[in-house]
Amino acid sequence: MSKVIFHVDLDAFYASVEQLDNPELRGKPVIVGGQSRERGVVSACSYEAREFGVHSAMPSARAAALCPKGIFLPVRMQRYQAVSKVVMELLSEQTPVFHQVSVDEAFLDMSGTQRLVGEPLEFAQSLKSRVQERIGLNISIGIAENYYLAKLCSDYKKPNGLFRLDSDQVEEFLDQLPLEKLWGIGKKSKELLNTLNIHSVSDLRRVAQEYLESRFGKAGGSFLYRACRGIDPGIWTRKPKSRSMSSERTFPEDINNPEILERFLLELSEEVFFRLLDNELVSNTVFIKVRYHDFSTHTAQTTLNHPVHSSKELFEYAKKLLEKYTHTGLSVRLLGCGCSNLYSLREEAGDLFEESENKRGKVEQAIGKLRKKYHSIPIERAGFLNTDYDKKNTD
Ligand SMILES: [Mg+2]
Repeated sequence: MSKVIFHVDLDAFYASVEQLDNPELRGKPVIVGGQSRERGVVSACSYEAREFGVHSAMPSARAAALCPKGIFLPVRMQRYQAVSKVVMELLSEQTPVFHQVSVDEAFLDMSGTQRLVGEPLEFAQSLKSRVQERIGLNISIGIAENYYLAKLCSDYKKPNGLFRLDSDQVEEFLDQLPLEKLWGIGKKSKELLNTLNIHSVSDLRRVAQEYLESRFGKAGGSFLYRACRGIDPGIWTRKPKSRSMSSERTFPEDINNPEILERFLLELSEEVFFRLLDNELVSNTVFIKVRYHDFSTHTAQTTLNHPVHSSKELFEYAKKLLEKYTHTGLSVRLLGCGCSNLYSLREEAGDLFEESENKRGKVEQAIGKLRKKYHSIPIERAGFLNTDYDKKNTD
């Protein structure tokens, strides 16, 4: 019997949290990103902003030109993580095989749960309603026989989407998708495919694997060969590092600007650090993952002689690791950051932190404890921890 995989994706997550916390922003083009419109980069934007052509990883100045009425807000990762935690907890209660990819994305293996929870589609619908009622956010769910197809399915009916792909409909489904909707095909790959006279998914399926590998490299060719057949290329199914926590981001367009990559690395570092705090975990090992536009994937890690004690420190180490990959001039498609060899904060009894002079670290620890306490209370719509909300940014 084939598997039942759910891919759950929170719609326009950062922007939706901003609209949740401030009702005045609802229905408006919200653009979350770098502090300044001149030098910043868009991290996320609401669907209202997308209508103007704004998308993530775009320079804020360009976004402001496309969408003059856009409301620019700074990234409040701590708040997003607090909201994410409530959603992810609810999701992880549904199945023992739960894999969180990032702050707003997770896979649930629901195989064999039918007797317990009912038909997958109905169950997914009830899950969507529960998230909406409890947290006030929309999620999109894709259901398919593997991770890769489930990911395509959650995107298919976005926002607030729900779509199940039956095993006997896979080719039909893939064939009606535009080539660039085949997840993993970036702008450059699409252009190259077009020059090879490949314009659709069915065109791609007619090409031999050897030929694709000669044009796109071993990794890229094999990826394309599998993707167009709906065979899981194994992007998310590889076993994660033991006792690790990480987050990754795939860009709508390949990025070769080191500054922009650093900005996203900072967000990923914050996200991972706050998740560690939420789970009362610490780590001495920082790692990064870089996937270039040709699908070649690289990881690097570094081990510190003390636990990472702030998001800033995590970022600094990750940044050093990233440097040798950003100076290759190659375009980056996916960036990931994480910590491995995790251990419990309680085991460490705090004295390691006492040794450290890092005040910021201590402050973040304290905030973490405070938030831990608050987490037992369902999140209020008005939002707690809202004090850093800067009204000036909403003009
Ligand atoms: Mg999302």
